[in-house]
Amino acid sequence: MKQEPINLVDKHDRRFPYLRLSITDICNFRCEYCLPDGYQCSSKPKFLTRDEIQRLVTAFAGLGVWKIRLTGGEPSVRRDFSDIIDLVSHTPGIETMAFTTNGYRLRDNAQIWYEAGMRNLNVSIDSLNRELFHKITGHDRLPSILAGIEKSLEVGYDSVKVNVVLLKGINENSLNDYLDYVKGRPVTVRFIELMQTGDNLDYFRKRHLSAEVIRSRLVELGWIENIRVNGAGPAVNFTHPDYLGAIGLIAPYSKDFCAGCNRLRITSTGDLRLCLFGNIGIPLRDLLQSDDQKQALQQRVMKQLNYKKSSHFLAQGETGLIPNLSSTGG
Ligand code: SAM
Ligand code: SF4
Repeated sequence: MKQEPINLVDKHDRRFPYLRLSITDICNFRCEYCLPDGYQCSSKPKFLTRDEIQRLVTAFAGLGVWKIRLTGGEPSVRRDFSDIIDLVSHTPGIETMAFTTNGYRLRDNAQIWYEAGMRNLNVSIDSLNRELFHKITGHDRLPSILAGIEKSLEVGYDSVKVNVVLLKGINENSLNDYLDYVKGRPVTVRFIELMQTGDNLDYFRKRHLSAEVIRSRLVELGWIENIRVNGAGPAVNFTHPDYLGAIGLIAPYSKDFCAGCNRLRITSTGDLRLCLFGNIGIPLRDLLQSDDQKQALQQRVMKQLNYKKSSHFLAQGETGLIPNLSSTGG
């Protein structure tokens, strides 16, 4: 078990060993709940550079962060993605490197990214039916993404997870497909409740479904809810003796979801977000311009942590600053 950080603790006694770092807002997919019209570029975006990322990660590691997830947009659209993996994974103090991807470059790069230091992978696959996958994402790429997962298992990633956003009337009856998928594969499939964002209110009203439907079906089928370990994050995991893989549920609208919060977020332009659905972005970029700003950066982060609220206000329809999750990484 890793050492818990002593510096990043909030007023509600939550610890933050985990940083989600968005490295781009750009995405090549058009998932209907996230970017239905595709990525729209307003002005030339200036995403964090490798030097800025290095300084940021070094400062957070100094505060006790040991897990980093690279996300986006689609993080693998960055041409320097392998270099970023290399620099983050070799930063002293960083023990666990993860990323979330739509998987479109996975098959050809699983080995290269592993060699650069990546070890944990979340791939978003909202349907195992090729036509439905195409309809949801705008891309007919399911076979190559599944091949990318097989390649990752061969290469030996420490963990391979599949994210599925639960969508009423679209994939709500797909549990059996995913159960078949994890029967003989060491993969965890995680059903995520659709979250309301600034841009998707109509879609959310039509498609949101409680993860309770999956939970009760799993229990009927003999799946067992794992005991939660301290600091494990908000997912609830289920296992079954006849299955190699596992099933997880992420239900942000459930009671006490935020009590398990263990992560902070950085946007692709260097703002700290204390909560995915918070109303403030705290700029850090001015303190990422030279190595001697590390202490000032750490002080700013520690001070801001005092303002982290006990919970989001999603149930009241408050989605905070984000128009969609591609801008903060989900
Ligand atoms: N492009 C990458 C991908 O799709 O995996 C990484 C970024 S994406 C924003 C991260 C995760 O957030 C994905 O699993 C995606 O399905 C999920 N996501 C996006 N919008 C969401 C929403 N409104 N509610 C719940 N999950 C969402
Ligand atoms: Fe892109 Fe991921 Fe959003 Fe889909 S969920 S549009 S892949 S950022």
